[in-house]
Amino acid sequence: MLRAGSTIGILGGGQLGRMMAVVALQLGYKVVGFAPEGDNVAADACTAFITAEWDDHQALKEFADRCDVVTWEFENVPLSTVAALPQTLLACPSRALEVAQDRLNEKAFAQQLGGLPAPYRAVESAADLAAAIAEVGTPGILKTARDGYDGKGQWRIRSVVEAGAVAFPGTTCIYEGFVMYETEFSVILVRGKDGQVRFWDSTANLHEGGMLALSVLPAGALVEAQVPAARELAAKVADALDYVGVLTLEFFATRDGPVFNEMAPRVHNSGHWTIEGAATSQFENHIRAICGLPLGVTKTRFASIEMRNIVGEDALKAHAILAEPGEPHLHLYGKREAREGRKMGHVTRVGHVLK
Ligand code: AMP
Repeated sequence: MLRAGSTIGILGGGQLGRMMAVVALQLGYKVVGFAPEGDNVAADACTAFITAEWDDHQALKEFADRCDVVTWEFENVPLSTVAALPQTLLACPSRALEVAQDRLNEKAFAQQLGGLPAPYRAVESAADLAAAIAEVGTPGILKTARDGYDGKGQWRIRSVVEAGAVAFPGTTCIYEGFVMYETEFSVILVRGKDGQVRFWDSTANLHEGGMLALSVLPAGALVEAQVPAARELAAKVADALDYVGVLTLEFFATRDGPVFNEMAPRVHNSGHWTIEGAATSQFENHIRAICGLPLGVTKTRFASIEMRNIVGEDALKAHAILAEPGEPHLHLYGKREAREGRKMGHVTRVGHVLK
């Protein structure tokens, strides 16, 4: 167990790191963040924050020297950055990042463990794209294999005619068949150093423009029926990676069962409801897991829960939400600029307490 007063290092400076840091402080730890120049809102909650490029080895050494354990809040931390740190500091093997950073890798990894993804093909050129569309059919989605998030680096292709208008982006891509799903849902688990796994309830997730807008509990009968199979896959993924901390897998609930979409080796937007809605939040259990502390109970505390993201300029009037009935729980991430399509905060509303 990591002693109180020890230092947790977090790679990445976004809102996930910020919410992790708050809990780490609460549990008596110090937090040092590390990220390149940017709107690093985690810094507000960190004991110290190092702003440096991912390949700045001098800065990485300074970071490592201050830390007793290192975790990440961002799955696109370069593997070379993680490799430059003393491996004994890593709370979780970097293989989890390696798999999740590439859509082709993560799909193949899940498939090998029995998961069922949408039909897909790797695309390296315009000719590959034409062949992939011919084989998989339309509608479909072309996605960059790496570095996409919140619907960025994605192009919907509704028909072969429309495909003509999509230029190959010049980087390795994946073309996926469009899944005719009823709902999207996620499985969020925490795995301790001893291999113990606990799950939170699965929310139904609604995306707008490729970005999460809303997570709701209860998720409905279709999702509930598919959660056991989805959890089985998620636990296999966690075990295969010797994972430590919070891991998320996203699924489409279809009439024919759960279709695996992607994984995130970190706390997840669709788990923000756990701060008020579960006995122990995803952030707290992540910190507990990486510090070797006993894991907390993940049980849901309310009969109904809704988490809604606050995006772009809506954040400028978000404090007005506090006057609404039903005790809304508001979280603002402290971002400098309320740009369109940018996650600025979230609000969680809960129903009556479960006995
Ligand atoms: P992703 O970045 O892969 O999670 O995609 C973002 C969102 O786009 C998903 O949550 C879905 O709402 C939608 N989406 C992505 N891939 C597909 C697909 N193959 N079929 C249907 N919808 C998709």
